[in-house]
Amino acid sequence: MSALRRSALSLLSPSGGRARLAILTYHKVMQESDPLQADEPDARMFDQQMSWLAQNFQVLPLPEAVDRLRRGALPSRAVAVTFDDGYANNLDVALPIMKRHGIAATVFVAIDAVQRGVMWNDLVIEAVRHCKSDAHLARAGFEGLSVADDKARARCVDELLKKLKYLPLAERWERAARLFRELADADPPRLMMTPEMVKKLGQAGVDIGAHTVNHPILMKLDDDAARTEIVDSWRWVKDVTGAAPRSFAYPNGRPGLDYDRRHAAMVREAGFDLAVSTHWACASQRSDVYELPRLSPWDRTRDRFVARIARSYLTSYLR
Ligand SMILES: [Zn+2]
Repeated sequence: MSALRRSALSLLSPSGGRARLAILTYHKVMQESDPLQADEPDARMFDQQMSWLAQNFQVLPLPEAVDRLRRGALPSRAVAVTFDDGYANNLDVALPIMKRHGIAATVFVAIDAVQRGVMWNDLVIEAVRHCKSDAHLARAGFEGLSVADDKARARCVDELLKKLKYLPLAERWERAARLFRELADADPPRLMMTPEMVKKLGQAGVDIGAHTVNHPILMKLDDDAARTEIVDSWRWVKDVTGAAPRSFAYPNGRPGLDYDRRHAAMVREAGFDLAVSTHWACASQRSDVYELPRLSPWDRTRDRFVARIARSYLTSYLR
C-alpha cells in the first residue's frame, strides 16, 4: 500500500526539472498537548508526522533542496521541514524525534525573542494560563472574558491576542508584559532557546536561519529600518553559530502584505541564499528562491497529512 502511495506521489512530483518542493512550517512541538494551543503538535503527534514524512517523501535539508530545485536536480516527492521563531522545544523535543527518523530541518531564529526568552504572544498565553479567576481578568480591564475552564481560557487567549496583534511593536510588548504581571503571580517563563542552545542546534546539523531581530511586519518599516532588521539578524546568526546563515523567513510572511520585492532584494544583498514566505503552495523550478511558498501540516491522521502535501503538488500545475 505504501509503495502504491509513493508511486502516486512520484507522479505528482517527479524527479528533475518538473520536481516540486513542499516546505513545511512548524513553530512549537510541545512535550505534552496543551489545551491553550490545540494547533501545536505534541511530541507524539510530531513523531507520527515525521514517520509519515520518512515513509512517503524524500526529506532534504532546505538549502540543499533549494540548490537542487534551481539545478533541476531534485528527487521525486521532495519535502523540507522548517521551524519559525526559535523555541527551546525545537532542540529539546523536536530534534531527538527528527534524528530518530533521519529528518533534517531549518530553524529560523527571531533574535530579540531569543534574547528576551519569550515572545509577546506566549506571554499572553502564559498570563491566561496562570490567571486564577475572572475577577483578576476584570481588574486588568477585560470584563466579559473568562478563565472558568480550558475552553474559556482558549477563547480568552484568542481575544487577547487579537486585541494586541496590530499594535506598534514596543507598545505590544509593553501591554503583553503588563498583562502577564497583572494576571500571573510568577516570573515570565523562558520558552525560546538561549544563544548557547542555538549554537548547539547548529552543531547537531540543523540549518540555522534568520527571522529578523524584532519580528516586525517589514512593510510597516522604512527601507533603512527593514534592511537593518535583515542584516543584523544575518550577523547575529553568524556570530553565534560561526557559520553564515543561508536561509531567511519573513515575519508573518504574506507576500505583498507583510513584505514585498524590495525586502526580497535586501535579503539577497545581505548574503542569504533563499527566503521563505507563508504563501500556501509548494515550490517548482519557476519559483523565486527569495519568495518560496510553504505549507502548514496540521493534519492529525496519516491520510489527511499525506493528502495535504499531495494536493499542493497537484495544484502547483494549475498556476
Ligand atoms: Zn515568526
